[in-house]
Amino acid sequence: MIKRFLLVAWATCLVAGTWAKEGMWIPTLLKVVEGDMQSMGLELSAEDIYSINHSSLKDAIVHFGGGCTAEIISSQGLLLTNHHCGFSQIQSHSSLEHDYLKNGFWAMKRSEELPNPGLTATLIVRIEDVTSLMMKGVKAEMDLAEQQKLMAENEKLIVSKATENTNYGATVRAFNYGNAYYMIVTKTFNDVRLVGAPPSSIGKFGGDTDNWVWPRHTGDFSMFRIYAGADNEPADYNEENKPYQPERHLEVSLDGVEEGDFTMVFGFPGVTEVYLTSHAVDYVMNKSNPMRIHMRETSLSIIDAAMKSSDQIRIQYAAKQSRISNAYKKWIGQNDGLIELKALEKKREDEVVFAQHSAENKALLQQFEGWYRDIEKFSFGRDLLIEYFYYGPEILDLANAYQSFLGQYETYQKDGKLEEKREALIANVEAHFKDYHLPTDKRLFESLTELYVQYIDPSFKPASLNAIDSKFKGDMKAFTEYFYGKSVFSDKEKAVAFAKSLSPKSLKKLQKDPAYVLMDEVYGGYFALIRPEYGRIKSQIDAGMKDYVVRLEEVFTDRTFWSDANSTLRLTYGKAEGSAPRDGMVYKFYTTTDGILQKYKPGHADFDLPPRLIELIEKEDFGPYAHNGEMRVCFTGSNHTTGGNSGSPALNGKGQLVGLNFDRSWESTMSDIMFAPERCRNIMVDIRYVLFIIDKYAGAGHLVQEMTLVKGEKEKAETEPVPVPAEAE
Ligand code: ASP
Repeated sequence: MIKRFLLVAWATCLVAGTWAKEGMWIPTLLKVVEGDMQSMGLELSAEDIYSINHSSLKDAIVHFGGGCTAEIISSQGLLLTNHHCGFSQIQSHSSLEHDYLKNGFWAMKRSEELPNPGLTATLIVRIEDVTSLMMKGVKAEMDLAEQQKLMAENEKLIVSKATENTNYGATVRAFNYGNAYYMIVTKTFNDVRLVGAPPSSIGKFGGDTDNWVWPRHTGDFSMFRIYAGADNEPADYNEENKPYQPERHLEVSLDGVEEGDFTMVFGFPGVTEVYLTSHAVDYVMNKSNPMRIHMRETSLSIIDAAMKSSDQIRIQYAAKQSRISNAYKKWIGQNDGLIELKALEKKREDEVVFAQHSAENKALLQQFEGWYRDIEKFSFGRDLLIEYFYYGPEILDLANAYQSFLGQYETYQKDGKLEEKREALIANVEAHFKDYHLPTDKRLFESLTELYVQYIDPSFKPASLNAIDSKFKGDMKAFTEYFYGKSVFSDKEKAVAFAKSLSPKSLKKLQKDPAYVLMDEVYGGYFALIRPEYGRIKSQIDAGMKDYVVRLEEVFTDRTFWSDANSTLRLTYGKAEGSAPRDGMVYKFYTTTDGILQKYKPGHADFDLPPRLIELIEKEDFGPYAHNGEMRVCFTGSNHTTGGNSGSPALNGKGQLVGLNFDRSWESTMSDIMFAPERCRNIMVDIRYVLFIIDKYAGAGHLVQEMTLVKGEKEKAETEPVPVPAEAE
């Protein structure tokens, strides 16, 4: 009954003048594109990339912290990922005394590697098509809720069978809007230690100015190490744990790539939505993105100014600022790109053709129109909650931690875990205040609350905010002073003391705390007023999408269809290549250290440089890492990537590491919704620049020594001999 997505219907879409390939391929289905990849320069088989019978490249690919990708690059569990992926760990280890954000961090021996509670490294054991198992007993006549219930039961069974008597985890994920289901069996390590990070003036060189922009000169990398128990299996942090010995680690190529060389990127792309109907794209472009951009522009103006005013605040807000600014800038580019590509017009034209195909198609589109009209108010409420509550003033989030504790109070008490959980809450409060600057949070509250009130649908407006007009005559500053002055959550000592005695009896006091009250209205209000209706309509849209994508294939038979990214392991391939994204504009495919010096602005937040790097570049002291005398820094490729591919390895035709994916060009930022082969380029840092920074800049050559370097015909590369400190072994 379930129409399976025709995953084999790939057409080869070679667009004149580019090798760009739209699509992020499921590793178990690579056989379908193997021939195409080989014709472009792949020297491996699909089985060399993903196999469950023997070690394959997939054994070296790691889901890093659940959001980024990393790869194992030594037999001692050494991990490479982006600087921006390790940023919050680097930030959390930083202080005025140890400013690792500013100066970088390098463990010169294993005992100096820094633990990161909560950070995980997940390997993929296997990926299995479980569509028919998930559909067992599901009948077309059943209503949606009944189907979902049965599928949830099936999933439970499948997962418990796969993980029985193992230390594996497993999840079943819907692909292609539920036309296929795959089980992902995983092994997760949670002792992952920080090994090295360049200073931000290298790892984040160019800052927000250059983010999402080519040409680029950012050494966006950091290094971690997976530790395991004595049996080489996942174990909680313990000083005695040993570096994990992987099934496979990537070889590192010193050969670089030339334009036209095959490249592939293997990692965990987050979300793409290339099959959205015009109604959804219209909402994103004209409602959601403008509001989100406005909210973030406002908070960034406050945070950026505060960070410039003091080193302490710079360290406290670095990771938060990056989280806010990254998507903010992307959405601006995304909207520009969608307008330039005439995305809405194209979608609408396609929909005319689609509707003409059959009466059912026409009816389905009309349903989408109705669903999107009905869901808009709720989607917007949800998007606004994300911006205000999760990315806004932090006082609300802190109040929420107390509510969660109270919500579980009786369960904790029953399980004899009350005091342990209280300690965790207190630690959480202390961590909150370590990275908190009260005047900055107040400014954020003042400005964002004003916008929130402007944007919120009147039927969802928190009652306590009526006081702004009724009691404070619209004076947001006065309201803010009252709000923070009266709340226990604005002061560390008070908040900790309160956590120490927190019990259901405290509720009376909490209900008089303005931050607690507002948090409850905003967050609780979301679950009471927005979420139920949003969820109801969304599941209708999802069911519609499941049909829609299959019918799209029937209508547009000459197009390539693939399953949108969903944070699962995918391979994307293309070539190292530049682009000519706009009239009169030609982008070369690589940059060099010359560009670093050209961009250098002493004292500038984004373009300052460490003196040692300037010296090495000026002396052309590049060691064995130069390319015909030039030190290449970054390069672009026509691999289809998205967020989550950050930190993914860029591999050559032999499957060797040639670069580290970290971004896309400005002209590509719309590719999550509409991919354009002639202009979409991913940005990678050349692996030789990474090695140069580790070895020549940081003097951490012992890390390079751990790797398997290859040059030419897979000979062990001739690097300068680097002494390995005794303790590093
Ligand atoms: N730099 C990007 C990110 O942070 C990676 C990408 O989306 O291409 O998500």
